[in-house]
Amino acid sequence: VTRTRFAPSPTGLLHLGNLRTALFSALLARARGGHFLLRIEDTDAERSRAEFVEALQQDLQWLGLNWDEGYGAAAGDAGPYAQSQRTGLYQAYYDRLIAAGLAYPCFCTPEELERGRKRMRAQGKPPRYPGTCAGLDPEEARRREAEGQRPTLRFRVPLGRTVRFEDGVRGAVKFRTDEIGDFVIRRSDGTPAFFFSNAVDDALMGVTDVVRGEDHIANTPRQLLLLEALELPAPGYHHLPLVNGDDGAPLSKRNGSASIRELREAGVLPLAILNHLARLGHRYEEEGLLSLEGLAQGFDQGRIGHSAARHDPRQLEHWQAEALRALSDTDLQAHLAGLGVLDPLPEATRAAWIALARDNIASVEDARCWVAAFAEDPAPLSDAARDEIAGAGPALFEAALEALDTSTDFPEVAKAAGAATGRKGRGLFMPLRAALSGQTFGPELPRIREYLGPERTRVRLQAARD
Ligand code: GLU
Repeated sequence: VTRTRFAPSPTGLLHLGNLRTALFSALLARARGGHFLLRIEDTDAERSRAEFVEALQQDLQWLGLNWDEGYGAAAGDAGPYAQSQRTGLYQAYYDRLIAAGLAYPCFCTPEELERGRKRMRAQGKPPRYPGTCAGLDPEEARRREAEGQRPTLRFRVPLGRTVRFEDGVRGAVKFRTDEIGDFVIRRSDGTPAFFFSNAVDDALMGVTDVVRGEDHIANTPRQLLLLEALELPAPGYHHLPLVNGDDGAPLSKRNGSASIRELREAGVLPLAILNHLARLGHRYEEEGLLSLEGLAQGFDQGRIGHSAARHDPRQLEHWQAEALRALSDTDLQAHLAGLGVLDPLPEATRAAWIALARDNIASVEDARCWVAAFAEDPAPLSDAARDEIAGAGPALFEAALEALDTSTDFPEVAKAAGAATGRKGRGLFMPLRAALSGQTFGPELPRIREYLGPERTRVRLQAARD
């Protein structure tokens, strides 16, 4: 059974960029009827924060991306699921590598490492670790440690080999081990380095498929070598093409990757975010809004593109409009009320307002606009509405007011006002619309009249006349 995972480092809020990785991972599991796990990669104590662990769980839950197993979940026997609590577990694997001569302590200082890299570059080679401590006499190593020096632990990369793997997205990938260099698997403070804990935990947690950003692809051969040395099973890897922002640079805070928090507070709906992200780098047959289940059903790793995807904020707006449209009247009302958008409207009028305005609501901003249009009399006028009213002059509104005395049927009132002033078509309806709603577009006029009732209609016509 397929087991995928999202393995965030809790050093910041979930945003569109890293959420997209989580989503593809969850979709792959759901598409195959498998399990989706959450693992917290908090080995960097300096940068990891409990509040981010908390926030990312809330964000995933809000989006409906529930995990079957892992951090904070009831199910699962491969825990603990936060790496900061797994230090003891890693020891056996370090011991195994050391005993096999596949890991060695490295005492190089940052300055020495930098000098080594410079030397490699000067020789025209890729700047990798030159192996300074690889042949260090064990006696010498013990002496230095006794002196209080704290070494890192490095993995001994076999020379002269080619690591090959079949990437679920990119197909056959190969790396030459000569270009890798012995890498750190335990930091000098005893905490595990990313390559190590990430790969070991995938194996120990039974992860079958790793879905992650293309920026990790060069890490994969290192991790495959490690798993092989540890005789642990290797997962399949699926490296997603990166998502770029408007400026063509990888999506980040600076070029439009809003945090999920911000989007949520702005009233963006979960399905809008999910539909937008699921289509960044993945093609769906279905062009309409899909539920999370629908997104999973239509998900196929073969449909993941090879080139970078581009986050276009207008696409997110499109899905937001679709997601708002998909809400029932009651849910739309609850959503807008939750954002405080309906505050200016008396409770008793809100359901009628939803019925009137909803076809004209493609965004929370639109909702605010229509609330403002109907909250108080007379309506606040847009510039275009002001022009229409001024252009028509008071006679039209006077005639409409007179007609309103004998009939409440709007088409009839409009007809009478038209007959009295010689206006017809757009020249008749647009000024009336402007007077009744303060806008030059929107819901049908008879429905606006009906929503307002005779009294409010009168007040708005009077204001336009005067
Ligand atoms: N903690 C890593 C990250 O956030 C996980 C990478 C992976 O998915 O393997 O980049």
